[in-house]
Parts: sequence; structure tokens; C-alpha cells
Amino acid sequence: MKEELEQLIGLEVVENEPLKNHTTFRVGGPARYFVKVESKAQLLAALRAAHTKKLAFFILGGGSNVLVADKGFDGLVIKTLPGDFVIKEDLVTAFSGSILLKMIREATKNNLGGLEFAGNIPGTVGGGVRGNCGAYGKGVGDFVKQVEAICLDETGIGLKVFQKDECEFAYRESIFKQNPDWVIAEVVFELSPADFAEESLHKMDEEWQQRCAKQPLDTPSAGCTFKNINFDAKEHEKYTGWQTNGKLAAGKFIEEADLKGMKIGGAMISDKHANFIINFDNATADDIVQLISLVKTRVRNQFGVQFEEEIQYIGF
Ligand SMILES: Cc1cc2nc3c(=O)[nH]c(=O)nc-3n(C[C@H](O)[C@H](O)[C@H](O)COP(=O)(O)OP(=O)(O)OC[C@H]3O[C@@H](n4cnc5c(N)ncnc54)[C@H](O)[C@@H]3O)c2cc1C
Repeated sequence: MKEELEQLIGLEVVENEPLKNHTTFRVGGPARYFVKVESKAQLLAALRAAHTKKLAFFILGGGSNVLVADKGFDGLVIKTLPGDFVIKEDLVTAFSGSILLKMIREATKNNLGGLEFAGNIPGTVGGGVRGNCGAYGKGVGDFVKQVEAICLDETGIGLKVFQKDECEFAYRESIFKQNPDWVIAEVVFELSPADFAEESLHKMDEEWQQRCAKQPLDTPSAGCTFKNINFDAKEHEKYTGWQTNGKLAAGKFIEEADLKGMKIGGAMISDKHANFIINFDNATADDIVQLISLVKTRVRNQFGVQFEEEIQYIGF
């Protein structure tokens, strides 16, 4: 199979590649087959090969929002590498594997503004747009003009262009998240002319310092584990003071449930930021899943609030 895939894709395919080496959690078993792509053409070839060989696949960007099972993934993992992005007037066109924060800083240097709020979010353009990553109540989807995606269905594979309003962006949501067989190949962002590049870059550096002070960035994690909760004034009257950017902070519930510092195996709820689960000592995916389950049960029982994971499960 490895040789057949290599022939179809035209790239080296590695067998049994440990995915823990490609995730920020530093957790995850092997990918049966693993290939790295750095262009739309290579991404398309890899997806065609998976389709032809009837192999399950998943796209791995920066690996900063995934929890990969200990048993790994029995299929083809397609890792997008940083590719080119082109800045022309107020548009930035980027291959999905481009590093989001690098693209934002380059755009800022070119006097284009809008995405600075995401200037310290790890990961790729593809992973970021799929999950509409964001901060301070804003999401990167707000600045998307169009997305070119490779869509797979029973009839085959085709490229499709989605305009912004067709992407159905919402809090950590998009149409691509709802359709795992639609792979983001390229994104065009529409930014605004701005003539305060130095100031914006300085603000992003300051925001990084704030993140370092509040988040356990020196230990492997996948960022916030749970989504914040939609605030319903009637239902959540007693939690009014827990709001952050119009939502209830998931971390606040975890903190109030006295779960900070709780450990299972090598996984721990950070005592710096309660919505971060950290891999402090060779955690397994199983340790993390058990901790997630404990948090969800405790918060549901104590507050009647149902948590939903922000991180994505792969191979379970
Ligand atoms: C320290 C830390 C801080 C973080 N801070 C934030 C924050 O402030 N705000 C925030 O929103 N998130 C944050 N995150 C989470 C994470 O950085 C974002 O969700 C990021 O956008 C994920 O991008 P990625 O490339 O790493 O995606 P991955 O983790 O590689 O993948 C995530 C999902 O997207 C899919 N995917 C990846 N590429 C594509 C593609 N081209 N087409 C279709 N699907 C694709 C994958 O299959 C997977 O299901 C943080 C994470 C860490 C570790």
C-alpha cells in the first residue's frame, strides 16, 4: 500500500509515524500512513489517493487543537506544511498550511489590519478557518473573503469556492467543521488598510506576554479544552459576573468546581488556567479523556451546565 500511495501522490509516504510528534499535546499513537503536502496540487493528489484506495484520512495542520487516540489513526494522515501566501492590495491569499500568526504579522507589516486579535493563536490557516479560531469575541472568519475547498462525496472529488456567507462562520464553527470531507485548500482574507504597523506588532507582543502570564504555555496542551457557554440572562442569572466577551467562561466553572490541579495519570487541569489540560508527565490520550469526562460530569452535576469540547478527537 505504501508504494501504491507514493506512486499516486508522487511524495514520500511514511508508515506508522508517531502523531505525538505532530501535536502540541505531545500525545497520540501512530498514523498508519503519513504524508506531508505543501501545495494545493499535492493536497489534491493525496486526497485523490485516499479516495482511490478507500482509506480514511484526516488533515493535520499545526496539531494545536487535536487529541489523537493512543491507538493512533488507521488511515492516511495528510499534514499540511507552511506554504506561500500572497499579499495584493487588501487581499491575502494563503495555502491552508500557512502558519496563521506568521501570515498575520506579514500582513500587518504590509499595513493591512483586522486580524491582529489572532496574532498569537498557534496553528495553520486551514485549521484556524475550519474552527473559526479567535479571541476577544472575534473570529478569523470575520475577515475571510472566500475559501477554496476540495470536496469529496460519492461522485468523486471536486474543487469548490465558498464565499464568506456560505462558510457559515459562528463561534468556533464553520460549514467545514460540519463536513469533515470538505478540506480547506486556500483562503483569501480581506483586510483593511492600516498605517500603524509598528504599534500593532507591539500590541501583539504585549498580548503574547499577557498570554504567558495567564496560560501554561511552557507545558504541552491543546489550548482551551472546552468552549465557553452561551449566556442566557434568564437561565444563567446567577453567573452574570462570570461573563467573558458575552459568554460564560468555561474555566470559571472548572475553577469553582475546585478542579484546578486535578490529575489523572500524566494529565492535569492547569492550576494557572482551569480550561487548559496539560500533559505534565507523558500523559496518554486515555488520561486526558478521563479527565475531560470527570470535568464534564462534575460541572453538569454542580451547575447544570453541559460542556462541549473545543478540541477535536482523532482516531477514537
Ligand atoms: C497554547 C494554545 C493557545 C491557543 N489559543 C487559542 C485561542 O486563543 N483561540 C482559539 O480559537 N484557539 C486557540 N488554540 C487552539 C488552536 O490553536 C486553534 O484551534 C487553531 O486554529 C488550530 O489550528 P491547527 O492548524 O493547529 O489545527 P489542527 O489542530 O491541526 O486541526 C484541528 C482540526 O482542523 C482540521 N483541519 C486542519 N487543517 C484543515 C484543513 N486544511 N481543512 C479542513 N480541516 C482541517 C483537523 O482535521 C482537525 O479536525 C490554542 C491552542 C494552544 C495549544
